[in-house]
Amino acid sequence: MAKDYYEILDVSKDASKEEIKKAYRKLAMKYHPDVNKNPDAGEKFKELSEAYAVLSDDKKRKQYDMFGEAGISGYSTEDIFRGVNFDDIFGDLGLGNIFEDFFNLGFSRKKRSFFDRGFSNRSERARRGADIRYDLEISLKDAAFGINKEINVRKYGICPECNGRRSKAGSSPEKCPRCDGRGQIQNVRRTAFGQFVNITTCPDCGGEGVVIKDPCPKCGGTGRTLQEKRIRVKIPPGVEEGSRLRIVGEGEYGDIPGDLYVVIYIKEDGFFKRNGDDVLCEVPVSFGQLVLGDEIEVPTLDGRKADMKIPPGTQTHTTFVLRGQGIPHLHGYGRGDQKVEVKVTIPKKLNERGKELVREFDSIGQNKKKGVFGKIFG
Ligand SMILES: [Zn+2]
Ligand SMILES: [Zn+2]
Repeated sequence: MAKDYYEILDVSKDASKEEIKKAYRKLAMKYHPDVNKNPDAGEKFKELSEAYAVLSDDKKRKQYDMFGEAGISGYSTEDIFRGVNFDDIFGDLGLGNIFEDFFNLGFSRKKRSFFDRGFSNRSERARRGADIRYDLEISLKDAAFGINKEINVRKYGICPECNGRRSKAGSSPEKCPRCDGRGQIQNVRRTAFGQFVNITTCPDCGGEGVVIKDPCPKCGGTGRTLQEKRIRVKIPPGVEEGSRLRIVGEGEYGDIPGDLYVVIYIKEDGFFKRNGDDVLCEVPVSFGQLVLGDEIEVPTLDGRKADMKIPPGTQTHTTFVLRGQGIPHLHGYGRGDQKVEVKVTIPKKLNERGKELVREFDSIGQNKKKGVFGKIFG
C-alpha cells in the first residue's frame, strides 16, 4: 500500500513545519490510544506518527518528496522515529508516552529521579559521579619544566552529615514498595500490535530500589553537597596548550567517582615564542656588534643565561641556534632548541660627535650609492 504522508496528516505538500506539527497534534490527540478506545485507533495513531516522524525531519522529508516511500525504505522503524521529539507534542497533555510500548524504542522520556541529577553514565545501582573540567593557565616556563600546582575545585562531594547514606540520622533508606526493591516495573500492555511486556525503570525510586523516607537535611537526600577541595596537580614538563591532565577519581562524588580533567592554557610570554618544542626569541644588538662581532649573554627559558658568539660581519635577522635550550619533549628524552634572532637597533638620536663618526664611517665604508656609481663611473 502506497502511503501518502501528506494525505495522512491532511496537509498540503508545501506545508510548513509548524503546519505539519499542528496537524499531527490535532489528529494524534484524536487517535491516541489513551483517549480513543476504538480498536483501530492504535493503527491509525501509528500511521499518523510515522507520517509526522518523516515529514518533521528535513532530510527524511526531502528523501520522501523525491522518491516517495522508496526514499525512506532504507530506514528501520527505529531510524524513522529516532530524534523525533514527541514530548514536545504530548508533554503538556498528560498523555502517556506510548511509543516505548509500540516499538520498544529508547527515545521516550526516561524518568529521572531527583537523585540522578549530575550523575553520568548511570547504571541501575552503581552511579558514577560526573567528570569535571578545570581550566588552568600556567607560564611558558612552567609548561616547559613542569610544576606542582594546587587548585581549588568546586564539586559535589560526599555529604559530610550523612556520609552519602542520604537519610536523616537514625533512619535509613527503605525498600521501594512499588517495585519491591527491583528498580524495574513490568508492564503488560495490549496494543494494536499485540501484547507487549514492557520493562520500565520504577518511577518512584528511579531504578534504585530504595526510597528515602527521611532525607538528610544537609544534602536534601542526594548524599552529596557542593564543596571546595584543594587538589595537587603535577604538571609534567613539556605540556602543550590544550593538554588535558586526567586525575582519576577527583571528579564528582558517586558510587564510582568521576574524573577531573585539568586543561592547560599557556600564558603569552613577553620574550619567548613557542614553536613546537623549540622557543624563538629576538635579541637587540648594535650595528657595531654585528660588524665587529661580539660575545653576548642570552636569557634562556630556565631563567639562566647562555653565551652566544656573534661572528664579525653578521647580518641583522640572522638566527642562531642554542641546541637543547628549548622545551623538553613530553614523550621521550631531550629538549627542543632555542632560536635566537639578532636584530640591529638603530639609534634614534645621536649627538654631533656620533653623527660625525657615522658620516666618517659611511664615507669609507661600502656606501651603496658610491659603490654602484663607482662601478659605473670608475
Ligand atoms: Zn546528607
Ligand atoms: Zn521502586
